[in-house]
Amino acid sequence: MRKFVFLLLLCSQVGFAQDMEYAREVLNELCSDALAGRGYVDEGDNAAAFYIEQEFKRNDLFAWDYNYYQTFSFPVNTFPENVELIVDGVKLEAGKEFLVEADAPKLTGKFELTHLDALPKIAPSGRMVDSTASYKGIVVIADSLIAKLPPSIRTSLLHGMKKAGAKGVIRVTDAKLTWTVSKQQAPLAQLTVKREAWNEKSTGVEVSIKPEFQKKHRTQNVLAFVEGSQHPDKFIVFTAHYDHLGKMGKDVIFRGANDNASGVAMLLNLAKHFATPEFQPSYSMAFIAFAGEEPGLEGSLYYVQNPIFPLSDIRFLINLDILGTGNDGITVVNGAVHETEFDALKAINDENGYLTEVKKRGKAAISDHYPFSEAGVPCFYIYTMGGIQAYHDVYDVPETLPLSEFADIFKLLTDFVARL
Ligand SMILES: [Zn+2]
Repeated sequence: MRKFVFLLLLCSQVGFAQDMEYAREVLNELCSDALAGRGYVDEGDNAAAFYIEQEFKRNDLFAWDYNYYQTFSFPVNTFPENVELIVDGVKLEAGKEFLVEADAPKLTGKFELTHLDALPKIAPSGRMVDSTASYKGIVVIADSLIAKLPPSIRTSLLHGMKKAGAKGVIRVTDAKLTWTVSKQQAPLAQLTVKREAWNEKSTGVEVSIKPEFQKKHRTQNVLAFVEGSQHPDKFIVFTAHYDHLGKMGKDVIFRGANDNASGVAMLLNLAKHFATPEFQPSYSMAFIAFAGEEPGLEGSLYYVQNPIFPLSDIRFLINLDILGTGNDGITVVNGAVHETEFDALKAINDENGYLTEVKKRGKAAISDHYPFSEAGVPCFYIYTMGGIQAYHDVYDVPETLPLSEFADIFKLLTDFVARL
C-alpha cells in the first residue's frame, strides 16, 4: 500500500514536471535567435509556424485535409538593416536607448536639429496654421506631446511638418520604450529616444533607417485538432497568437516571451495533453496558433472570414495571450458577457485554490478572441496579472519570465473544459 501511494505520488510529480519542462522547452525555442522574434525579418514568423507544425505532428494531433497551415497575407513595414542614431559622434544603442517608430519611411544622412517646445497648430488637412513656420533638418519634441495624439491627427501633424521642411522627428521620452508593428509608412520617420541618452544641447545627428515595405507578406495560421469521444462535431477551441514584433535591424530582437510565447506554450501543452488517448476530450478540440496579431488581429480576422469548420460548431473558445506571470491572478475578457461560464471557471478556482484572483472584464478588442466574439462565438480571452512589466520591448525574454502560475492555469483550463 505504502509502495503504491509512493508510486502514485512519483507519477503525478513526474507528470507535472514534464508539463513545465515542455512549457520551458517551447518558450525557449520560440524566443531563440533562429526564430528572429517571430516577425518579418529573416522569415521569423514562418520559422515559428514550421516549429509549431512539427510540435502538432510530434504530439499526434490531426490536420484538416493533411494541411496544418492556413495561408494569407498582409502589408508590413520591416527593418532588415541595422538602424542607427549618432548624436554628436556618440552612437546610441538601438532597442535600449532609442527606437525607430514601426511606420518609419527611409531616412539616411546628417541632419541639423529644430527644437520645438509645443506642437504646431495643424488643420485637419495637414496644413500648418502658421504658414511662415519653416523647419530645418530633424524636429526634436517631447514625446509626451505626440504620444497621446489619435493616429489620424498624428499623421496630419507629420504631413504638416514635412511641408514645412522637416526631414524627420525625434521624440524625447521619459517613459519606457515600447515598440509595435505597422502595416503602413508614415509621412516622416520618427525616432523615440530615452531622455537620459539624449543630449539636449545637441545640434546635429546622423541617422540611418532603411526599411523594406512588404506589400504582401505571406504568412499562415497553424491549426490542428483532436477528435472528441462524445461530441465529435462540436468543438472547444484554444487559440494563441505566435507572431511577435520581430527584429529592428540585424541585432535587435524583440523575443516576446510573455507576448505570446507563453500563450503558445500553453496551447501546445494542452494539445499534447488532449492528444494523449487517456485524456481524450468529450468534445472535439481545435488548437489554432494565429499569425499577424500584432499588426492588427490579421490571423484571427482572416480565420473568422474563412473558417475551417462552421463557427456555429464552436461550443466555446478560449484565447491565451500573455500567460507568463499570474502573481495577481488572471483577467477573463468577456467574463461579464458569458456569466454562466465565468461563474463555473471561478467556482473551479475557488474549490481548488489555483489562483489568487479570477477577475472578469467586459468586451475588449485587444486580442484574437475579438473577431470570434463579434461573429457570435462564445469565448473568453485570458491573460495573467502581476509580476514583470516587460512588454513590447527587448526585455521580454524567457530568462526572466517566471511562469509562476502556469501549472495552475493549465489545471484550471482542463477542469473548466471538462465541465462544459
Ligand atoms: Zn499578444
